Amino acid sequence: MSHADADGDAADTLFEKIIAGEIPADVVYQDASTFAFRDIRPQAKVHVLVVPKTRYRNVGELAAADPQLLSEVVATARKVAELEGIVESGYRVVFNTDSDAGQTVFHVHAHVLGGEPLGLFGA
Ligand code: C5P
Repeated sequence: MSHADADGDAADTLFEKIIAGEIPADVVYQDASTFAFRDIRPQAKVHVLVVPKTRYRNVGELAAADPQLLSEVVATARKVAELEGIVESGYRVVFNTDSDAGQTVFHVHAHVLGGEPLGLFGA
């Protein structure tokens, strides 16, 4: 099934197929507007992706178009941290945005990373 995104782009990304259950994923949490699943190539002991069910290309476009939905994505990141037991130890939330940051899937997603000490990034 094809979903138009908020910009009217009908081309599905992988993440629409995961949300629709057409591609299997290890789902951690979902609610009416957001969806969280484990990254298939984890970069930390806990590595979960949080996406809005409506597609925006990146976090800047989401923030401009629907700040309430961005807030819900961040609240789901916190919910994931609670479910994974990493609120006290701490965790990182990362939105890679376009090519220099290595964004590969153009449906905005927050990486929630933790469960162990994380190195400094940017190197
Ligand atoms: O920020 P970026 O766009 O690079 O992140 C995409 C993420 O989606 C990667 O960490 C990749 O491992 C993950 N992925 C996934 N399941 C897939 C395809 C990609 O978890 N089927």
